[in-house]
Amino acid sequence: MTLPTLPPDVDEIVPGVVADRRYLHENPELGFDEHVTSKFVVERLEALGAEDIQSGIAGTGVTALIHGTRGEGKCVLLRADMDALPILEETPVEFASQNPGVMHACGHDGHTAMLLGVARILTERRDQFPGSVKLCFQPSEEANAGGAKPMIEAGVLENPHVDACFGQHVMSDRPTGEVWVGGGPIQASADMFTITVQGKGGHGAIPHTAIDSIMVASDIVSGLHKIVSRNIDPLDPVVISVCSFHSGTAFNVIPDTAELKGTVRTFSPENRDLAEKRLKEVAEGVAAAQGATVTIDYDRGYPPTINDDAMSALAAASIAKIVGEDNVKPMVPIMPAEDMSYFLEERPGCYFMTGCGNEEKGIVWPHHHPRFDLDEDVLGIGVAALAQVAIDYLNAES
Ligand SMILES: [Zn+2]
Ligand SMILES: [Zn+2]
Repeated sequence: MTLPTLPPDVDEIVPGVVADRRYLHENPELGFDEHVTSKFVVERLEALGAEDIQSGIAGTGVTALIHGTRGEGKCVLLRADMDALPILEETPVEFASQNPGVMHACGHDGHTAMLLGVARILTERRDQFPGSVKLCFQPSEEANAGGAKPMIEAGVLENPHVDACFGQHVMSDRPTGEVWVGGGPIQASADMFTITVQGKGGHGAIPHTAIDSIMVASDIVSGLHKIVSRNIDPLDPVVISVCSFHSGTAFNVIPDTAELKGTVRTFSPENRDLAEKRLKEVAEGVAAAQGATVTIDYDRGYPPTINDDAMSALAAASIAKIVGEDNVKPMVPIMPAEDMSYFLEERPGCYFMTGCGNEEKGIVWPHHHPRFDLDEDVLGIGVAALAQVAIDYLNAES
């Protein structure tokens, strides 16, 4: 892979972005606990002269503004997540986690360092755009009560009013130098359910006097899998997985309860509603047919991440200026969820994937693995790409 030639001002700050990423990597913090990270971000923004720096939003979130000098215009929000994962790091890097059991194993250290780099570039290029850029450093993407929603509830999309949102995620299964961009649904929703079956306990040798909760729950599992194959449009993918099944304690006792837990993943609000509705109908119907009852706890997690078509086309054209047209690839949707989705529910925008894998350097481990690493050559690319997207958006829309 030949790496792109970066704009000179980006090239110049790359060592600083790498140093920031390494500092953040060494000091990982879990969701809503990003106090050191947040303080570091604020200090960097203050040193740059960013305006209206606000911290402590939704706990540890930070925002700041950079005003262009080409006059009035729109406001574009650029988002980075800051949290790490509860993983004991196993990489050989010299800047490995100093916080045992906590690790930046998803690349959010890179996202935060890159957005600080973007802040630096845009501060220097104020004369290239009208309107303003709102930098948004978000707590807790990994824990499924993420920081995006409470930041939006705290008003980050107003004062000034935000017109569009952009962000990026590094991807270790794609090579450094390639960027994946596209409109429409790109990441799934992630809902969780618990179904508790109430039957009637009894003797394992006298089953006709009992209502077998294991049998009922088994039929529910098989019924749930028919939702995907028989109720959902096969061109709009859905996953329903039962991932936990607990019941019983003895070889000769029919247990009176059984508990199922699982997850539902969808790419559209319509399928999300349909899957939830059918899950409840199937569980209740199957139980009723056998004289049992169910209690269903259905918990909605992150919604599907849906990119705006026009904003994605704009982002693709901007990113092509940095990596070349051939290295801008059409986005391939993935099932993991992402709370950038809440920003994209509220405003048009695009979340794109920046390749950070490099087989030659042994950077091949998947996200959330104790040996996950990112190819630091992605950092300059990500800075240049996101800065270009912001500049092009503000010039196009103002
Ligand atoms: Zn992750
Ligand atoms: Zn992530």
